Parts: sequence; structure tokens; C-alpha cells
Amino acid sequence: MEDQSLTPIRCKAAVCRANGAPLVIEEILVDPPKSYEIRIKIICTSLCHTDLTFWRVKEDFVVPPVFPRILGHEAYGVVESIGEHVEEFAVGDTVVPTFLGQCDACSSCASEANNMCFAVPFSISPGMRRDGTTRFRDAHGAPLHNFLAVSSFSQYTVVDVNQVVKVDPAVPPKLACLLGCGAGTGEPC
Ligand SMILES: [Zn+2]
Ligand SMILES: [Zn+2]
Repeated sequence: MEDQSLTPIRCKAAVCRANGAPLVIEEILVDPPKSYEIRIKIICTSLCHTDLTFWRVKEDFVVPPVFPRILGHEAYGVVESIGEHVEEFAVGDTVVPTFLGQCDACSSCASEANNMCFAVPFSISPGMRRDGTTRFRDAHGAPLHNFLAVSSFSQYTVVDVNQVVKVDPAVPPKLACLLGCGAGTGEPC
């Protein structure tokens, strides 16, 4: 039987094609996870004000607008497949992606004073942390950019192992998804 973890998944995502334009549900391809990545089936995702900020972003914003893009960074899901060198997670784990990294090895992660990892720093680049590329393609094969290395407005997404935590499956998904940003930052959701 073919190893599904090595094949792209065809699914649906809410794609933002231009700033301020309505999100459109499109059929997309989600590539398999690379090393130190996991692919997640999204069960629940919420809307954060930061998603709105990057949806209506203008040319004079602090970073250039990047489209097409899959927004969303508060989510709860189930691990569908794992990439090479992933030991912390297994298929079926219930997880919450985080837009901040945690390598558990750098001096910042070892400190009790902050949570800004030096090895996996905060980034609003349109790709994954380690290689800068995206795991999403549209129906024509064109890349769809990432958002905060989470992009949860999709039925499936790929995240870095340093940007995801396991959660007790007894926690209701609609509450667990808020832990990824709204609860941690105190941001109105
Ligand atoms: Zn670190
Ligand atoms: Zn947020």
C-alpha cells in the first residue's frame, strides 16, 4: 500500500488572492512534511485580528504584501503524517500550532525571562522557517504563500516541530485553538 505520508494531499483552503479581497475556497495541494515538520489535519481554527491586519495590508506596510496567501494561525488539529527526524510527535496526536518557536536548546529557550527562541525566531516571511519555501500549491501548481508558518485556513497544513505542542484530546477543539495566539498574547480574537 502506498505511503500516504509521502504524497501531496488534495483538500480545500480559504485562499486570499489580494489585499482586502474576499477569501475564496479553492482546491489546493498540501505537500508532504519535510525533515523536522509534521502535516496536520485541521479540526478547528479561529480568526485573530492579526489575520485581518495581513488580509487588508497596504503597500506601505512594514513588510511588503504577499499574495496569494493562506492566512490563519490559531488552530487545533491531528497529526496526519511526520517528516524525517521527527521524534516528538506521532500520527494521531492532537496538537496546537504556535507562531513562536521553541527549540529547547538556545539560551533564550532556557531562560525563564522570555519565550523568544533564537533558533526559530518570529518571522512573517511567506515560507517555512527552515528553507523559506511553502508546502501549498493551487490547482494550477502555483505556490500559495504561508502565514506565520501555520496557515490554518486549510483542511491540512504543515508546521515545524518547533512550532507545535501536544494538547490533551479531552480539551474541546474550539477552546484549544485559542491557545495558539489569543490566550497567549491576550489579543482580542
Ligand atoms: Zn530556542
Ligand atoms: Zn493572533
